[in-house]
Amino acid sequence: MTWPKNSPEVDEETWRDWQARFGESDKAAGFDIRRDFQPFNQMNDMFTRAFWDPSVRSKDTDGFFASYRMEASPRRGEGFAQRDFALRNAAWAVSDIISNRAGEKGLREGFQGAIEADTPVAPTRAALMSPEEESIEIKRLARFFGADIVGITEIDERWHYTHRPDTRSMRPLEERLPEGLTHVIVMGHAMDFDLVATYPSALAGASTGREYSHEAAVVIQLATYIRNLGFEAVASMNDTALVIPYAIKAGLGEYGRNQMVLTPEFGPRVRFSKIFTDLPLATDTPRRLGLAAYCERCTICADACPPRALPRGAPDLGPDNPSAIKGVCKWTSDAEKCFGYWAKLKTDCAICMRVCPFNRRYDRWRDRLWRWLAIGPRGRGVAPGLARWWQARRGKRKRLRPRDWWKGGAAD
Ligand code: SF4
Ligand code: SF4
Repeated sequence: MTWPKNSPEVDEETWRDWQARFGESDKAAGFDIRRDFQPFNQMNDMFTRAFWDPSVRSKDTDGFFASYRMEASPRRGEGFAQRDFALRNAAWAVSDIISNRAGEKGLREGFQGAIEADTPVAPTRAALMSPEEESIEIKRLARFFGADIVGITEIDERWHYTHRPDTRSMRPLEERLPEGLTHVIVMGHAMDFDLVATYPSALAGASTGREYSHEAAVVIQLATYIRNLGFEAVASMNDTALVIPYAIKAGLGEYGRNQMVLTPEFGPRVRFSKIFTDLPLATDTPRRLGLAAYCERCTICADACPPRALPRGAPDLGPDNPSAIKGVCKWTSDAEKCFGYWAKLKTDCAICMRVCPFNRRYDRWRDRLWRWLAIGPRGRGVAPGLARWWQARRGKRKRLRPRDWWKGGAAD
């Protein structure tokens, strides 16, 4: 079978332009991007391949998606009963309303295509403050609508999908955004600590669904505000562009071995949304906080992954797998093994999030003390060896039994 290419190949002029525009901030972010880099085609992500690629599609993957449409097959095993699937699907409900509303146009808004605006851009532009003041205001409003963390960075087309699927035919369509966009507002949405502690289970999937539903509301509300000011704003969740590099460039965290953005506020327990805009804004800078440095000598997530989908070694150019972006030296999962496990479970898995030592409650002094030892105030751990010893004594975070969660129990 032939794979859709992660096209287009990058010509010399484009490569030099990218080096000039992004080289410095790539260095600050710790990105190692090679000359054979190719922007990603969303046809190749696992969720899309599960619809068109016979090497991925199976009874299990069909059953995985069906279970979100109320065709869950409850089974023996704690956390997989009808009530667990019911809560998970209820948590997704608002996100589903948005992503299903333009299905007849071949669009799955928020996932395979940006969220379509219900509000036109006002014909008259509001008087603006300075970009710095506008950024402060936008962050305040993002938090008002419900985002937990917010950062701003410049548009970087390297992370934009070249194509998305037409969800009716699963044929590729060129991904297009309006002309003239300059900035991306990236928002983080913290997942519930106790529900995440119940991974793997259908119940735990409620922590993911709840944040997608939150994201949908927050990006629509903030984009509507910007459009009412007379500026373009495209509300986006997992669609249109890879959010991880954008979140890192916006200073929200660092890239971890578990393929997630590790944030100082919540560790990896965060989902991200974004808004593309031409509102003049001041940008944030990437921060080297010491979280990725901690990963260099930690393999807790990789050791805990049931299908062994996470790498244990140093960052590299990744497996020869169409779902891995080409030309970026980083920790890369075997996406086929990972999604194969999700399909068997009939729900998402985030064991690698649950067990990460940075997944803590930072409103507790002992967790703040551990973080201070591990990464220190300036990204140079105060005593990372002591943090590792403390972590090893404590052992990896245990699963909270779903039946205990239902009785009001909390994770340690
Ligand atoms: S478990 Fe360890 S290696 Fe994995 S992301 Fe967390 S800190 Fe990094
Ligand atoms: S989500 Fe689960 S299967 Fe996938 S890499 Fe993490 S632990 Fe492994």
